[in-house]
Amino acid sequence: KGVVAIVGRPNVGKSTIFNRILGERVSIVEDTPGVTRDRIYGKGTWLTQDFRIIDTGGIQLENQPFQEEIKAQVEIAIEEADVILFIVNGRDGVTGDDEFIARMLRRSGKPVVLAVNKIDDATLQGNIYEFYALGLSEPIAVSGSHGIGIGDVMDALVEAFPEKQQPELEGIRFAVIGRPNVGKSSLVNALLKEERVIVSDIEGTTRDAIDTPFEQDGKHYVVVDTAGIRKRGKVYENIEKYSVLRAMSAIERCDVVLFVIDGESGIREQDKHVAGYAHEAGKPIIIVYNKWDAVEKDEKTMNRVTEQIRTQFVYLSYAPILFVSAKTHQRVNTLLPMIEDVYHYSQLRIATNVLNEVVMDAQLTTPAPTHNGQRLKILYASQVAVAPPTFVLFVNDPQLLHFSYRRYIENRLREAFGFDGSPIRIIARSKD
Ligand code: GDP
Repeated sequence: KGVVAIVGRPNVGKSTIFNRILGERVSIVEDTPGVTRDRIYGKGTWLTQDFRIIDTGGIQLENQPFQEEIKAQVEIAIEEADVILFIVNGRDGVTGDDEFIARMLRRSGKPVVLAVNKIDDATLQGNIYEFYALGLSEPIAVSGSHGIGIGDVMDALVEAFPEKQQPELEGIRFAVIGRPNVGKSSLVNALLKEERVIVSDIEGTTRDAIDTPFEQDGKHYVVVDTAGIRKRGKVYENIEKYSVLRAMSAIERCDVVLFVIDGESGIREQDKHVAGYAHEAGKPIIIVYNKWDAVEKDEKTMNRVTEQIRTQFVYLSYAPILFVSAKTHQRVNTLLPMIEDVYHYSQLRIATNVLNEVVMDAQLTTPAPTHNGQRLKILYASQVAVAPPTFVLFVNDPQLLHFSYRRYIENRLREAFGFDGSPIRIIARSKD
């Protein structure tokens, strides 16, 4: 897998090319409240190569001079990407800002693919030569709006991906996500400092180093993106979009998500973005209500907060909630067993005959309601995937599977098999 980041000054066509590269595939599939709709992050495949792509143009600093903003965007790209796609405008010629960006990129030593945009037809081809002066790779002519040259750019990007495949680290991979200051790093540190945890010292490239492997009671784990959590002090660290971006990237690469909420300040709008993404990614989720030590409480507080969380995150009804304190280490030792638990459920495969017994029994107890005189009939069910567990219902007419009946079937599956912490997907297919 390679990570591509797109940089360039405003209006050179970054978002157009970003969308071209992704085609239609990354449009958000599910309608989860609170998910950020601005697309700054996506994933795709080009010739057998999986890649992830970031449009840094969507990460904006507020109240910062223009140059500072570009600088932050390029820094983010350098930090996050394996290859950088630098886009310039073939109608404007080389500008001072282009030179400024080129200088930063050259200094970083990261591979750069240079695309000259707005070369909409052959008569403009000659415009690309002056961009050799940027001292980067050979300029490639593209037209974002006409979809020309995108394949050439993809070839060049894939070619520039680092050769060496990273050794897969052993163990369940979990990501600790949440908005800034909820206590993610404190929590990771608390976990790693718990007795009998052995943090392995694995030499590797900088990319390897962002994942921290450790072992407890003979079991292996990897905390994804720990360096991102620990490293501090960059101007852009607290930009919401950047933290969402980091979270998205960590969620992609993990098996289990710890979604951290700050118990001291309570649930905020921003919490929902990150949670929504984890849900859509189909990863098992544990809700970690941190700073429990700082919450003034009586015997009813835990129930009240639980109710609040359930109301605010309706779509996460399957996620267990843990009340912890990274500061006093209260219940920090319950995190790993819970991670094991939800991981297990996300990987669970149900034997076909058992599955069909449950589904048929559910249908018998409560048949689907009729719509315009027609009724959904489930003929047969089959589990087609794990992580998340995905079920196909072969039915008389897929259109007849409505939200409430889908929810009913999901609930029956959960009653029968658990699936704690794990989203499950139900797909209706026509029997033929
Ligand atoms: P991150 O940005 O999510 O990684 O948050 P940090 O781990 O840097 O924590 C932000 C602030 O919250 C720091 O001042 C921590 O000391 C504090 N903090 C973290 N966990 C707890 C906790 O469990 N209880 C209390 N009272 N404070 C905490």
